[in-house]
Amino acid sequence: MKANIYRPVDKYFSDKAEMAKKAEQEALRDKQKEKSLEENKIGEWQKLKELIRNEKDKVRICLLCRRKFASASHLSKHEKSSKLHSSNLLSFSKKIKKS
Ligand SMILES: [Zn+2]
Repeated sequence: MKANIYRPVDKYFSDKAEMAKKAEQEALRDKQKEKSLEENKIGEWQKLKELIRNEKDKVRICLLCRRKFASASHLSKHEKSSKLHSSNLLSFSKKIKKS
């Protein structure tokens, strides 16, 4: 009877196979963990982006003149027709060209 004969070699290889299987499972688990972590990160980033967009919509600021406006139309009107803005824009573009 084959099965009754104790063969250390068989035990050795079955243990090896078991260990390899375990390691594979662990690696898979780690991968899944990493993946979910990555997805979490992306989710956080998207939330942040949305938040920034929302804040941008709420607060209308001309960064050049550092002035706040009540609405987007006020801001665009300022950008189109304000003398302060156009002079600021000019000096700003000069600064950029210099650097
Ligand atoms: Zn301005």
